[in-house]
Amino acid sequence: MSEHASAGFATRAVHVGQTPGATTGAVVTPVYRSSTFAQDHVDRLRGGYEYGRGGNPTRTAFQQALASLEGGERAFAFPAGLAAEDTLVRALTRPGDDIAYAQDLYGGTFRLFSQIYPEEGRTTAAVDASDPEAVAAELARRRSRFLWIETPSNPLLEILDIRALADAAHSAGALLIADNTFASPYLQQPLAWGADAVVHSTTKYIGGHSDIIGGAVVLRAGLSLPAGRAGYSGTGRLGDELAYLQSAVGSVPGPDDVWLQSRGLKTLAVRMERHSANARAVAQFLRGRAGVAQVLYPGFADHPGHAVAERQMRAFGGIVSLRLGSAERARKLCESTRVFTLAVSLGATESLIEYPPIMTHAEKTSTAVALPDDIVRLSIGLEDPEDLIADLDQALAAL
Ligand SMILES: *Cc1c(COP(=O)(O)O)cnc(C)c1O
Repeated sequence: MSEHASAGFATRAVHVGQTPGATTGAVVTPVYRSSTFAQDHVDRLRGGYEYGRGGNPTRTAFQQALASLEGGERAFAFPAGLAAEDTLVRALTRPGDDIAYAQDLYGGTFRLFSQIYPEEGRTTAAVDASDPEAVAAELARRRSRFLWIETPSNPLLEILDIRALADAAHSAGALLIADNTFASPYLQQPLAWGADAVVHSTTKYIGGHSDIIGGAVVLRAGLSLPAGRAGYSGTGRLGDELAYLQSAVGSVPGPDDVWLQSRGLKTLAVRMERHSANARAVAQFLRGRAGVAQVLYPGFADHPGHAVAERQMRAFGGIVSLRLGSAERARKLCESTRVFTLAVSLGATESLIEYPPIMTHAEKTSTAVALPDDIVRLSIGLEDPEDLIADLDQALAAL
């Protein structure tokens, strides 16, 4: 692994964690479908592996690659994005601790912060993350353990300034955690802009083919638990705490699923280039199309977050949201496409269309952070852009 440490993104995506096997020369790290590992002595392991809940070589390979691609020290693979989020939150907080989160978040993440954690005695609050100075004051006042952000956000595609928010969080003694699902490590590496931890739903771009559910956490080097806590692991290090908790609660992915995610990483760079180029073509078409009230896409020069996105992202990603002027038109559009499939999720080869207020963000409906009711989210796939545009054109004509 170390010989690739200074290589470019695509080279590391292909090679890190994929050292040919010592006994067979297998070029691809195999699926180790084994729950237990033979030992030569009762107190000594052969290759560091004992039982599949604690570790598996297929999982290690994926974690090494992802840690390298995000520029982190350690990565942890989980059976779902929400499992990754939950384990990280539990490692960092205890009942009585405070959690701050940005307003526009994935519905399931919002559900954790608005329902699950408050019920267990953690206090939580949504903050306006577009104003880093106000964020710093609010985090200090609440004595929050961390601020949780998404950029680009789901589904409004708002852009947050990671560097400014990391400085704000740190000045208040809090950590900054970034959900990097929408960008993927190819387009954006939040740790390089000062974030402390990154989470992923690897179900999306990292898996990339709509065939697995998975999640991950990546940590920057040198993170300690808050308030001088030693934690369950006793070392006081966040990485040790996550590893301990993950094994203690059994929140581990199967080897077949992580193998597919390692495969996904190898093509991530080329896929993200094509997703981004297709999304730009679709966004430009929609912007000029009668019947579309607004197109939300950070690649437009007049998007309020464009300059920040240009600085912290390599390209603008594969998601485009649009507003249709009424809930009826938005729902009808979702039911009128032929190439776009009406389905939740995003980040895969096939283009998807969905209606967030009912399908992915229902938890927010009738709350202070409710979405506009005329919004539609598109996940732009790898098809020919002309076919995607023609499909949207006919669906808009049908409204
Ligand atoms: C899908 C998603 C999640 C949740 O991940 P799962 O793999 O579905 O558990 C979290 N954050 C974002 C931005 C997502 O899109």
